Amino acid sequence: MQALGKSQRSECMLCAHCNSENIKRFSVVCEEGTSTENFSATSKPVWNTKPFSPLGKQKMQGTRTVKTDLAKRCSPPADPEYGVLYMAAFPGIILGGYFGFSSGISWNSFWLGLIVFAAVLAIVLFGAVFLWKKFLNGNKSIANYRASLENWQHSWYCSKCGGVTVSK
Ligand SMILES: [Zn+2]
Repeated sequence: MQALGKSQRSECMLCAHCNSENIKRFSVVCEEGTSTENFSATSKPVWNTKPFSPLGKQKMQGTRTVKTDLAKRCSPPADPEYGVLYMAAFPGIILGGYFGFSSGISWNSFWLGLIVFAAVLAIVLFGAVFLWKKFLNGNKSIANYRASLENWQHSWYCSKCGGVTVSK
């Protein structure tokens, strides 16, 4: 009976709250509400940049991602493992830089120093993820993340009533 119910699922999705056909996947809503802007600005930094720029001014250029509030609401959940790697990257670079630099000097080799730097950085990153998974409920966070990602992939937003419909 369950299989029959699944195969009979209608092709056309309707909002579970108001039966409207104007519903979109969260991923589509998020994509539509995300735009990339270019910006450029001139600023006079507090430190002296005169050796590099004759006017002492710096031009900044870049792009930034802008999301509407709706797109933020419909954004996919963040992968907790990236968060841990992100937090471990900074101390990893400091430690790797310290050990890489000092061993590079004592062995008088830039490449050995670079290898030590990369090795220490990798150990810190993998170690942080390992400790997080083992002692800080990391596996549970990953399971939660996968569940909410799965949920997100099946979530639809209704543009008529603003309701959320989850299709399973
Ligand atoms: Zn609706």
